[in-house]
Amino acid sequence: MTLADTRLSARPRAAATATPALKHGRHFLSIPGPSVIPDRVLAAMACAMPNIYEGELVERSESILAELPSIARTTTGVPFITVSNGHGAWEMALTNTLSRGDKVLVLESGRFAVGWGEMARVMGIEVEVLNARPRRAVDPAAVETRLREDRQHEIKAVLVVQIDTASSVCNDIAAIRAAITNAGHPALFMVDCIASLGCVPFEMDAWGVDVTVAGSQKGLMVPPGLAFCWAGPRAMEACQTAGLRTGYWDWRARSAEGQHYLRYCGTPPVSHLAALREALDMIAEEGLENVWARHAALARAVRAAVAVWSTPGGIEINVTEPSERSDAVTTVLTGSIDAARLRAVCEQRAGLTLGIAFAPNEGRAFRIGHMGHLNPPMILGTLGTIEAALIGMGAPIGGSGVAAAATSIAADLGAALVPGTDAPSFNP
Ligand SMILES: *Cc1c(COP(=O)(O)O)cnc(C)c1O
Repeated sequence: MTLADTRLSARPRAAATATPALKHGRHFLSIPGPSVIPDRVLAAMACAMPNIYEGELVERSESILAELPSIARTTTGVPFITVSNGHGAWEMALTNTLSRGDKVLVLESGRFAVGWGEMARVMGIEVEVLNARPRRAVDPAAVETRLREDRQHEIKAVLVVQIDTASSVCNDIAAIRAAITNAGHPALFMVDCIASLGCVPFEMDAWGVDVTVAGSQKGLMVPPGLAFCWAGPRAMEACQTAGLRTGYWDWRARSAEGQHYLRYCGTPPVSHLAALREALDMIAEEGLENVWARHAALARAVRAAVAVWSTPGGIEINVTEPSERSDAVTTVLTGSIDAARLRAVCEQRAGLTLGIAFAPNEGRAFRIGHMGHLNPPMILGTLGTIEAALIGMGAPIGGSGVAAAATSIAADLGAALVPGTDAPSFNP
């Protein structure tokens, strides 16, 4: 075939679908990460490659490293950026603080802390799992009891997630720290904030966290590909003797004075750093506390809707204790309603992708991600589409969750509209 033939031949294209669907607007992704990336952040990534040894790139990178501690609310934690997903940051945290044969205590509350523990086991670390109460957060009293039993202090680290993205629980990190302290136990306290940083309050210093781990693609609004560790003073000290330390992840080399290139152990992730700079600017413009308040308001709306949809044997919020429900993701059990069909209807007919459920809820739950760059039209659109799909499927629901969500959001809009503060300035 010649080039001319190629130009003249019709462009191969899928046949139009037989039945009309309503999905042909902007597709909406409502999974708990990656979250929606702001257009500003996407645009910032479209930059030419710079000199990686000096100039603008180095300045941008140093400005990000200077700002990251404030996001985790630490003044003593040293920030590290990994060119990886969250699993890479898990490994960075473990290699820099532990030695082969050390023991860690994993606090189960869903799927993710257990996954971190499985990674530790592969590395030659002994792993004990403190099992979760079903559909509940970690019980700090159980942590204290277990640590008191460990009189020889064989447990070198306690691993927990703040928000477990499978179950949707939010663990009380301050209470778990208090349990460790009350037990008089010296274990390092390591917290996975991959699904919670930039969504809900987290106070690394005030809560006595030794290692914080996060990823770029959830609350931080940057595409997958960057992850983070913040290492507190006790973690940096453990690094001096950690037998599992490797050349690539080594905190000591990465924090050495004056060598920017070593921060990333090689070429920096140029485009992702441009994205992160923009995302951190957006968080600063909004204010971190306001970001948390927005997540709380939108999460209240989601839970209001799900509560109204709920029926015996039908829809139900997974986490049973209301104070343990996260403001970043909601796992919805579907009972007799076919969750796979609901997701398929939303995705294929209406342009909305919902999150799948993990074990033990596969096929009988779905997840709504409500983290990151999200506002009322996005969340009400998601809830309205789910409600339409449920009605269309003939699923039993208790009433209009959308009406309840709107009422919930109205209360938060009202608070923001105190005359003279947030009133729109309109001077034609
Ligand atoms: C998403 C997530 C992870 C895994 O992050 P990856 O970037 O997929 O490796 C780990 N922990 C929690 C709590 C998460 O939500």
